[in-house]
Amino acid sequence: MIRAMKRTFVLGTLLVVGALSITAAQQAQTKQVIDVQKVSDNYYVLTSSTPGNDATFSGGNVGVFITGNGVVLVDTKLAGWGQTFLDRVKSITTKPVTMIINTHTHADHTGNDDKFGTSVEIVAQENTKANMAKMDAFKGDKAVFLPKKTFKDTMTIGGGKEQINLYYFGAGHTNGDAMIYFPALRVLQTGDLFARKDAPRIDRANGGSGVAYPQTLSKAVATFKNVDTVVPGHSPLMKWSDLQEYQRYTADLLNEVQTARRAGKNADAAAASINLTDKYKGYTSEGLKLAVQAIYDELNAR
Ligand SMILES: [Zn+2]
Repeated sequence: MIRAMKRTFVLGTLLVVGALSITAAQQAQTKQVIDVQKVSDNYYVLTSSTPGNDATFSGGNVGVFITGNGVVLVDTKLAGWGQTFLDRVKSITTKPVTMIINTHTHADHTGNDDKFGTSVEIVAQENTKANMAKMDAFKGDKAVFLPKKTFKDTMTIGGGKEQINLYYFGAGHTNGDAMIYFPALRVLQTGDLFARKDAPRIDRANGGSGVAYPQTLSKAVATFKNVDTVVPGHSPLMKWSDLQEYQRYTADLLNEVQTARRAGKNADAAAASINLTDKYKGYTSEGLKLAVQAIYDELNAR
């Protein structure tokens, strides 16, 4: 909300100044950008997924997997980007979307589940379905777009070159985060369990856990043997070693928080004292304060 107001103000200033060449129409067009990244002949990623720039942030990375029967989407970005999103999918393939897999409940991953008709099969981990049912976007008439197919720990869809494996490893970002593995492609979509190289967002209201986080990721790291490409929730494509490193980061974060808490520091003092970016090159700390607070809240509630 604050961001939207700021944008309106900036736009107003531009119009008053009048000397700049960016018009409102051009700004609107800028907003319609979703980039397409080809990973293989039958798998693409729709990007423009890094938060921070309201004009281009369209929601999380989307996987577009083309099978003989139709298109499987993993996540569906933010509502309001529906038409652009549909256009991008059509620019890749003329096949219809037949299945949507949601990695988790958040609106920047489920925002266009309702744009592909009611015959599309929607799939999610069972806790994610329960979390989605609490969202206004899936109430009333829209309840038809809640996942009909759910799983608890693992599920396999399709076979051979078109096989998709879904896994739930435990609480982390939420209590229903699925990782989606395409064995023939050696591609793993992590959802927001690994969103970017920063402290994780821990959504306790949806069952997320900073205490379980490192364990959950270590199960993932122990499970997959053949991954070349990691598709994080909100940043450019990464490698398998980046996910392994992220697991270590979350373990170090939890350790540091527990140490600071035992030393009698409050959450703010703990956050101020924790520095992981020297050890973890290329990491930022934008989410650190919130993550530390969430871990404190969780430990204090025990
Ligand atoms: Zn999320």
